[in-house]
Amino acid sequence: MDRIEILKELSEAFGISGYEENVINLLKKHFGDRVSISRDRIGSVIARKVGKSERPKIMFSAHMDEIGFMVKEITKEGFIKFLPIGGWWAGNIPGMKVRIRTRKGGDIPGVVGLKPIHELTPEERKKLPEIKDMYIDVGGSKNFNSKEKLDIRPGDPIVPEGSFERMANSNLLVGKAWDDRVGCALLISLLDNIAGDEHPNTVYLVGSVQEEVGLRGARTSAYAVEPDIGFALDVSLSRDTPGNDGEAAERLGGGASVLVYDSTMIPHVKLREFVCDLAEANKIPYHLTSIKGGYDTGTIHLTKFGVPCLALGVPTRYVHSSSGIISLEDYDNILELITLIVKSLDEKVLNQILE
Ligand SMILES: [Zn+2]
Repeated sequence: MDRIEILKELSEAFGISGYEENVINLLKKHFGDRVSISRDRIGSVIARKVGKSERPKIMFSAHMDEIGFMVKEITKEGFIKFLPIGGWWAGNIPGMKVRIRTRKGGDIPGVVGLKPIHELTPEERKKLPEIKDMYIDVGGSKNFNSKEKLDIRPGDPIVPEGSFERMANSNLLVGKAWDDRVGCALLISLLDNIAGDEHPNTVYLVGSVQEEVGLRGARTSAYAVEPDIGFALDVSLSRDTPGNDGEAAERLGGGASVLVYDSTMIPHVKLREFVCDLAEANKIPYHLTSIKGGYDTGTIHLTKFGVPCLALGVPTRYVHSSSGIISLEDYDNILELITLIVKSLDEKVLNQILE
């Protein structure tokens, strides 16, 4: 299947932290019988592709969950109070269209409501609204008691509505949940690239659960895999929009983001240099960057007595909102880089990294 179709399918899939079932099924479908698949006990998918050698064991982790909300309670008038799941900024939420998934499986459309500007006091107008004052309107009215009519219960997951589209600049894709469905798509594309080839190691392609609430599935799946080397494949910030003061390199089309720092990990320097040398030798564009936030490698690198790890990012505009933008050019460059990593990271390189 074409990578654009896979990206569309994954972007549109429904799955906040703890409710990743749709994405799990997509990964299993695309991995097929080219790998052996196991699970950790909180849901992460672990696909194993053995090459010429059992070792080194290289783990690529991409998280399946997206940020969203969860039903907290239903008011007697039938409005939904909700909990944010993952890092939301309150300014991005009001007016957003959402879908609530109930136990019967039907998705209920809603919109995040807030008092209109006309009703705000001058003081209120100056402030950012608080999430606790917002609610989801599912269409309750005098003739429709949504609390009684709809089977919505506390705990039901809610995702933003955000349809996938190719932009007028056809190299760019807009959609929801690139964080981290773009990483999930890379796992599939990487398998496509290495499926027919020998590689001097064993590769673990891991779709992790619950990253957005604390890198949880990466911790449990790394315990199961016991990797020699770990990579997170995730989004990084594209700082090429008005109001940003980032480096010019951090832009759509900037190539692979190689993280030199995030709030959860200082990457392994020799592993980082190995990857940068590989990119330079093969003329793959990349840039060094940092972020306040964490990646799956934040827990993977602390497994047992430690795992050399590196996070690689796809530059993305509007991360943690209901619509983000990525570039296919970056996708292809990062795919080429991780394919080269798999083809060249053998026991000798591992030993040099560990020296
Ligand atoms: Zn992420």
